[in-house]
Order: sequence, then structure tokens, then C-alpha cells
Amino acid sequence: MRLYPAIGLEVHVELKTRTKMFCSCPVGEWEEANVAVCPVCMGHPGVLPVPNRRAVVFAVALGLALKGKISRVSHFYRKNYFYPDLPKGYQITQYSVPIVEGAELLGVGINRINLEEETAKSLHLADGSVLLDFNRAGIPLLEIVSEPDIRSPEEAKRYLVALQSVVRFLGISEAHMEKGQMRVDVNVSVSPNPGELGTKVEIKNLNSFKAVADAIRYEVERQGEVLRSGGEVAHETRMWNGKRTEPMRTKETESDYRYFPEPDIPPLLVDEGVLNEAEGMLVEMPWEKEERYIGAGVPRHLAGVIAYDRDLAEVYEGIWDIDPKLTANLLLNVIVGRLNRAKRSLRDYDWEGFKRFVAAFKEGAFSKDYLKEAVARHVGGESFEDLLKSAPRVERVDIRPLVEEIVKRSPKEVEKYKKGQKGVVGFFVGQVMRRYRGKVDPREVKRVVEEVLEGLLD
Ligand SMILES: [Zn+2]
Repeated sequence: MRLYPAIGLEVHVELKTRTKMFCSCPVGEWEEANVAVCPVCMGHPGVLPVPNRRAVVFAVALGLALKGKISRVSHFYRKNYFYPDLPKGYQITQYSVPIVEGAELLGVGINRINLEEETAKSLHLADGSVLLDFNRAGIPLLEIVSEPDIRSPEEAKRYLVALQSVVRFLGISEAHMEKGQMRVDVNVSVSPNPGELGTKVEIKNLNSFKAVADAIRYEVERQGEVLRSGGEVAHETRMWNGKRTEPMRTKETESDYRYFPEPDIPPLLVDEGVLNEAEGMLVEMPWEKEERYIGAGVPRHLAGVIAYDRDLAEVYEGIWDIDPKLTANLLLNVIVGRLNRAKRSLRDYDWEGFKRFVAAFKEGAFSKDYLKEAVARHVGGESFEDLLKSAPRVERVDIRPLVEEIVKRSPKEVEKYKKGQKGVVGFFVGQVMRRYRGKVDPREVKRVVEEVLEGLLD
């Protein structure tokens, strides 16, 4: 039985505003628990929440970047459930009309983007007790709900990398998964009929791209086995324990949350001022960067890696002008891995020095092999001057006699050239390069080879 997976992602992203969603407590990272709190974000009765305008602008900016429809009027609702990290007994979120509808990212439909508030953070101790930190409670949160348009773990990862990249480029969230600033719930269903969705299973709170991909792979397999053996997939919420998914609870239905309009907050208006501010935040998107790099001669697989990484892209655009393709290659294949292994950041490298290597290479100071070696040693701390001094000399010899000799010894290849097979030039260049052990400039060799062969045509 052939089965078709359909995967939807629900992503929560914490917004990098100055203050919280409904009060003026500061948003930040704190050493101590419960220092950035007030009666509003502690959920005391009788307080009045006031929406953070900046968070609204951020939500609209993301909506515009993802080509969504911005709701000029949307509404806040109370989603009722009790949990220790939510002493109010409800979360303020959006329901009937979200702030953004009908957006899209890399061909995956985005049903809605809700503006809502974070809960407090619970800390489970070894003795079974639970501590609560309300510094996080009330931080503005975007809930980005995709359509079940994703077909594989790889596609899911691609979507998440892109989403993380977009919010970082917009400057609305750092979206570090390991810090919980971006969290993912996954919906997986499989169906024997590609036009129909199977029973949906939700996997909660995945905190790395790898966990998302592994959980999807496992769940598609598990549901497939259930269906193939004639069973029925249960509609439930499961959790990922690093190896498999396990049942958590039967899924709440919407009516369990008893949504009703938040009576303390008037309808949320997106006026011209908010729209203009959000438009002002729009920057070049990673897929646009990728195309621009490709247009400059960078191979697609390298262009994509750089364009979707804010920090890499920033560094790259500061150093790429001399030779975009060569620079992309050295950046990804020689520099980044070495910096990572040494636990150094991108900022912790002499990029101006790097540009001097590329410039020197372009002027013919050394071979490409040595360029790679020199850049690697430069990352390791050796100076440009020393590396330039110890470069093997590119030999300034007259290669013409050697070329003529090889041509004379290769009548078959010469014949091919005369018949228009220009590809044999490579054969001659290779012979010469081998003889000089790569110490001559291949472009110069090619030029001489072509000159000698052309001379035979008359
Ligand atoms: Zn507060």
C-alpha cells in the first residue's frame, strides 16, 4: 500500500521587543528568576493588559515578508486552560481573525499568524518539585501555522531554516532553538489517498531541527505500520523522547479551550502608521539573496547555504567582491569548519587579511592549492606576510618549448583539434601542469596551448 504523508508545522517565535506583550516589563535574558515581572504578567486579577505596538509592527512585518494578508482589524481571545505556568488560567491569543492570514514560504502555505503571549518557564527539580520563572511570561509570541503542505522531513527542515532566517533578517527575533526562542510542534498524518488527509497526530515541543526531522521520520513510519496492518491511527498528542514518539494525552478539541473574546482589549487595529513602520523593516529576503549570488556566478548549493544564514551572508558580502565564486568556496570549505571546530565565532577572524590572500592569488602570486593551504593556516593564526613569503614560487619559465614538444608527440589529439574538438586543449594543459607539478599558472598554459594549436591550422 503506497502511503502519502502530509506534514504541518506550528512554530512559536519569541519577539525581540523591548517590553512584554501586555505590560511594560522588559524583555531580556536574566540571571535571576522573577525579576522582570509585574501584576499583569503574573496574572493577578483585575489588571488591564495593553497590547505592545512594537509587537504588532513586528507581526505585520513578518506577514508582509511572507506575502500574507494583513488584517486591518483583528481580535484577541482568551484560550482557557489551567497550567502552573499560566496562573491566569488562560492565554491571550488570537482566534477568529488573526493578524495575518494566507501567507506563504517556499511554496508552503501559511494558514495564519497569531499574536499571543508566552507562558512562564517551569523548572522541574530532581525531588519532583517545580519552580516557576515569570521573566518569560508575557513575552510577545508569534504562532505561525502552516498548511499540511510538507511531504518529508527534508522539506520540513528547509521550511524551518527559511523561517528562522526570515525572522532574523527582519530583526524581530533571534529565534535560537536551544534558547527556546523558536519552538516547533509538528502535525503528521499519512493517507493511502494523496488527495485526502489521514488522522492527524501532533508532536509537541521539538527543540532542534534534528528532533523535528527524526520525529517526522519515526511518526510517518509508525502510522504507516498501523495502517498497513489494518488498524486505525488514534487522534492524539505525542511527545518525542529522542528515539520514538510516545502518547502524551488525547488531543484537546477546540471546545476544550472555551475560547471567548478578551473583554479587556478592544479590537486590534493596524493603521497606516503601523503598516508604514512594518514596510520600513522589510529587507532583502534570503531567497532573493540566493538568486543574487547565483547571478554573480556562485554555484546554487553554496549560494543557498550562505544566503539563509544571516551572519554568514553579512560576512560574505563584505569580502566577496574580488571573486564571488572562489570566496564562497573558501568561506564554506576552508574557513567556517575550522572556526567551528576551534569554537570561534565568525567575528573572530581577520576578514581583511583574507581579502589580501584572494587579491594576491588573482595577481598570480601563488597557485590555487597554495591559496587554500594559506587561508587554512591564516585561520590558524599565521600572518599574511609570512605565508606570502613561504609561498612556493610560481615559475616564470617559458613553457612554449615544452608545449610544442608535447604537441609534436600527440598527432591523434592534434587531429581531433583540427576537426573542431576543442576539448582536447585540456589534455595538453594537463600534460604541461603535471610536468611543472602545478607551479605554473594554468590560465597561462591554456593560452599558450591554444596559440600553438591554432598555429597548426593554417
Ligand atoms: Zn509585566
